Amino acid sequence: MKLCKNKTLKHGKDQCIHNIKANDGTCLCSLGAEFLCLENKNIEVHRLSMSAIASWNCKMKYYYKYIRKLSIRDEYKSPALKAGIIWDNYCEDVVKGTVDYNKLTIACEKYNIPKAIHGKLSALVRACIELGVDSAMTINNKEVVTQSKCSGEIDGYEIVGVLDRKYDEYFVETKLSSRPSYYSEKQNIYNQVGIYFMLNPELEKVIMEVTKMPAQKITQDESVEEFEDRVCADIIKRPSFYFIGIDRASGSFGTTFYRQEFNYDWLRQMIHKVGLDIRHTIDNDLWYPNHAMCMNPFMCDFFDIHKTGGISDLIFKERDIKK
Ligand code: SF4
Repeated sequence: MKLCKNKTLKHGKDQCIHNIKANDGTCLCSLGAEFLCLENKNIEVHRLSMSAIASWNCKMKYYYKYIRKLSIRDEYKSPALKAGIIWDNYCEDVVKGTVDYNKLTIACEKYNIPKAIHGKLSALVRACIELGVDSAMTINNKEVVTQSKCSGEIDGYEIVGVLDRKYDEYFVETKLSSRPSYYSEKQNIYNQVGIYFMLNPELEKVIMEVTKMPAQKITQDESVEEFEDRVCADIIKRPSFYFIGIDRASGSFGTTFYRQEFNYDWLRQMIHKVGLDIRHTIDNDLWYPNHAMCMNPFMCDFFDIHKTGGISDLIFKERDIKK
């Protein structure tokens, strides 16, 4: 297998003449167009994360993430992704009973979130309390495990994933999206949820807790506080538009799917095929983009590379690989 076309060995040596070993063990490349050495990456295919399987929808995305091991620095993540991370953390805190409302502000400052988006997140939090959504989330919180890791062998591949919230007989996935219907339709969550059921045979159902990101725009003569009040009032007025599947009486929301709705033979075959495809693509160096995935379901982290053709080390860094 030859990953790097520029690899040049010095007579009698194994190391490429362009390879520079940094103190932290990273291997850099002295050529202008590259900053990480491709040949020094440990490429495992027998271990597949849910994120790797999802990334396989675009071969270039897989290449950047798992061959080049790049990740976008926090400050360059898209506002939608940052808002999603903050929302996930908020929901986790609600369930664990560790909510500190200053955390939202601190997180928005840390991620350099635009004021209008901060206002929308604050409006969602206020509406959650007003509508009883936060109290409904804490039902069964004695048995909950948040960020529950799971793994198992499927067709010779070790599959690893993380459930947002795991209870004794079901699990919950939290999503914040401008297109909530995406995560409420089975075809879009089929692989992820189906594989989670395979890895956790004791679980009978999943609740997809999908929240719509408010779409209002702040006007010129409106302060951030007035904007937040306006958005909050709209969420309270029509909660089912924002908290998909909400029960007004209890405040619980979400779309439920059951174990028997998934075909496990198909999923097993899909994993087998993805594993073979990845091995074949690596061995033959066949990387190509799938443009349909650039904005699906939101802007790809690597869109900047796609647009400019360059990889800036200001924007990207080498990803920490979690074992
Ligand atoms: S920007 Fe588009 S083509 Fe490039 S890696 Fe992302 S999804 Fe693939």
